[in-house]
Amino acid sequence: MRPAFAHLADDLDNLRQQNRYRSRRVVQSVQGVYVQMDGRKLVNFCSNDYLGLAQHPDVINAFKNAVDEFGVGSGSAHLICGHSAIHHALEDELADFTGRDRALLFSTGYMANVGIITALLARTDAVFEDRLNHASLLDGGLASGAIFKRYAHADTDALARHLQAASGNKLIVTDGVFSMDGDFAPLDRLSALAKQHNAWLMVDDAHGLGVIGTQGKGVLDYYGVSQDDVPILMGTLGKGFGTFGAFVAGSETLIETLIQKARTYIYTTAMPTAVAAATRASLLLLIKDQWRREKLHVLSDRFKAGANDLGLPLMPSASAIQPLLVGDSQAAVALSNTLFKAGFLVSAIRPPTVAQGSARLRITFSALHEIQHVDGLLDALSTVKL
Ligand code: PMP
Repeated sequence: MRPAFAHLADDLDNLRQQNRYRSRRVVQSVQGVYVQMDGRKLVNFCSNDYLGLAQHPDVINAFKNAVDEFGVGSGSAHLICGHSAIHHALEDELADFTGRDRALLFSTGYMANVGIITALLARTDAVFEDRLNHASLLDGGLASGAIFKRYAHADTDALARHLQAASGNKLIVTDGVFSMDGDFAPLDRLSALAKQHNAWLMVDDAHGLGVIGTQGKGVLDYYGVSQDDVPILMGTLGKGFGTFGAFVAGSETLIETLIQKARTYIYTTAMPTAVAAATRASLLLLIKDQWRREKLHVLSDRFKAGANDLGLPLMPSASAIQPLLVGDSQAAVALSNTLFKAGFLVSAIRPPTVAQGSARLRITFSALHEIQHVDGLLDALSTVKL
């Protein structure tokens, strides 16, 4: 008889052979522009703290003061006794920020996406998802039990054909900024199709909020689309906001429906009150500090120009995510290791996170990077073969 779990050990071996094995590296310092790892100081080019708010003194002080006043744990789910006045105030402020009736906090973005999609759809309904959507959106679509159609990335003609053939309630779901590519969803065409086919459109703008558009209002602002065009707007708080958690914003009816039905909202402990307090502070900075968005533009423009001069395989991205397409997984890992040795932390992203043959280096910028950091990275890249 084979020992228990022998097949799992075989699976792990397979992953190693295919260069798909994922290992964690331990960060021994603050998560900032620099990180300490394996005893080395590295320039960090893989954080999603785009605006550099995670270590901002106002955000830290709001967190500390709230811990002193409210303690650490929230004690229970929002619907039992975990929903504090601070959570409530943050929801009001997020509603105001997104120009919607209401907002609802979730403990993570993953949970928000699964909870929203499963709450809104029945088996007789249909969900349409971009092939490159974040795993949580795809998982939500699958878990909903509704008819599940994936369309090729940004292929609105394929989506139109699927919509034409569907019946029941229809939900189109897309990333706003695609997390591993950095490009924007075609929200103008998606919202037109949603109207034409009487479908709802849901946008997960995890990587757009804070970074794109006036006052960081995200890709919806970039396209000039409104609550009528995109009735379901989801955002995460662990990226541009620099804290933790997520929210969905929309109409009174949408939010009340989610409170009644979203299982990942109902059956989980509310985020610590101090996280909500810190997020209220970061929202103020996110709106006010236009310079952070401008700086991100300067840094990514500098990088794109330099990468073009070097003939590096840039992807078409207008965001703070600037991936370099490598293709082979082993080559991507080797490049990431070379950059590590040169003092730069850049993650290699491999299948199944991205499609087979499209492994890449995912480079992300923070408003706290300086031009010298970008130039240093370009120097290091100029010595490798891509
Ligand atoms: N949506 C997108 C597009 C994301 O990139 C992420 C985070 N990787 C999530 C949702 C999940 O958010 P969280 O990390 O808060 O669970």
